[in-house]
Amino acid sequence: MTENYEVVVVGGGAAGLSAALVLGRARRHTLVVDAGEPRNAPAAHMQGYLSRDGMSPADFLAAGREEIARYGVELVRDRVADVAEGFTVDLASGRTVRARRLVIATGLKDELPAVPGLAERFGRDVLHCPYCHGWEVRDQAFGVLATTPMSVHQALIVSQWSKDVSFFLHTVAEQELSDDDLRRLAAAGVRVVPGEVSGLVTRDDRLTGVRLTDGTTHDREVLFVAPRAVPQTDLLRRLGAELRETPFGAYPVVDETGLTSVPGVWSAGNATGFAEQVVNAAAGGYRAGATINGELLMTDLDAAVAAVRV
Ligand SMILES: Cc1cc2nc3c(=O)[nH]c(=O)nc-3n(C[C@H](O)[C@H](O)[C@H](O)COP(=O)(O)OP(=O)(O)OC[C@H]3O[C@@H](n4cnc5c(N)ncnc54)[C@H](O)[C@@H]3O)c2cc1C
Repeated sequence: MTENYEVVVVGGGAAGLSAALVLGRARRHTLVVDAGEPRNAPAAHMQGYLSRDGMSPADFLAAGREEIARYGVELVRDRVADVAEGFTVDLASGRTVRARRLVIATGLKDELPAVPGLAERFGRDVLHCPYCHGWEVRDQAFGVLATTPMSVHQALIVSQWSKDVSFFLHTVAEQELSDDDLRRLAAAGVRVVPGEVSGLVTRDDRLTGVRLTDGTTHDREVLFVAPRAVPQTDLLRRLGAELRETPFGAYPVVDETGLTSVPGVWSAGNATGFAEQVVNAAAGGYRAGATINGELLMTDLDAAVAAVRV
C-alpha cells in the first residue's frame, strides 16, 4: 500500500532537517528521505554557524535528526530514485510514497581536479573555502591550485588569512589572466607559479609540498582548490523545474521562499545555490517549511469554503 504524507523532504542535511523541524512542529505528517552523504562529510569540524562554531558536522546532523524525531517526523536512510507529478516518490529500496508537497534539499557534489592525492586530503589540508577553514590554517604556507582564470579570486581572498600564498597556474595559461588580475595578485603579495601540478608531497600524513611536472617541488602546508560544483538537480529536472545556468552549475529558479517553477515543489540549501553555507542552508529549509505549512493550510481552507458554497 502506498503511504501518504503531507510533505516529503528529499535530503537530510542542514536544509532538509531544518525544513522538517518546522514542518514537524507545525504538526505536518512529514517524511525525510536521506541518502546520508552530506557535502561537508570530509571535514572534522564545521565553522561559522553561530553558537555551533567548531562542532563536528556529524554531531550537528545527529542533533538535528534527534530534534525532528521529537515532533514525529520520520527519517529513512534511503535514496529517492524518481518522482512524478502529484507527487509519487519512488525510493531506491522499492518503497513508494505519496506527498502533497516536496522539498528538494539534495545538496551538491564537489568534483575535484584529477591531481593524484587531492581527493584523499580534501577537507583536511586540501581546502576549498577560507570561511570554513581559513582561521584554522592562518599564517601557514598556502598554495592555490588554479582550475580556471576565476581561481584568481580564490588566490586573492585567501591572502586575507596568510601573507605566504603561491598561485599555481596548473592548466591556466598566464596570458589568460588580465592585467588587473596580475596587478591585484602583486598587490596582495601572491606569487604566480606557472607550470602544471603533478601531485602532492606529504610527510606523516600532512601536506608538505606541491610537485610540478617539471620535477620541482614547492613547500606548502595547505592547498586551496575550487572543485567543480555539481548540483544534485536530477529530481528537479524530472519534475520539469526551470533551471538557470551559472558559472557554478545549473540551479533551480526559486522565489524568496524556495518555491521552484513547479507548483508544490520547494528547494533549499546547496541544491539551490553554490554559496549556501550550513547556516544559510538551514535558513532556506526553515523558510520553505514554514511557507509550505501556510500554503497547505490556505489550500485546505479554500477547499472547505468552496465545498460549503456549493
Ligand atoms: C570539506 C567541506 C567543508 C565545509 N565546511 C563548512 C563549514 O565549516 N561551515 C559551513 O557553513 N559550511 C561548510 N561547508 C559547506 C556545507 O557542506 C554546505 O553548506 C551544507 O552541507 C549544505 O547543506 P545542504 O543540506 O544543502 O546539503 P548537504 O549537507 O550536502 O545534504 C544533502 C543531503 O541530501 C542527500 N541526498 C542527495 N540526493 C538524494 C536523493 N536522491 N535521495 C535522498 N537523499 C539525497 C545527501 O546524501 C545529503 O545527505 C563545507 C563543505 C565542504 C565540502
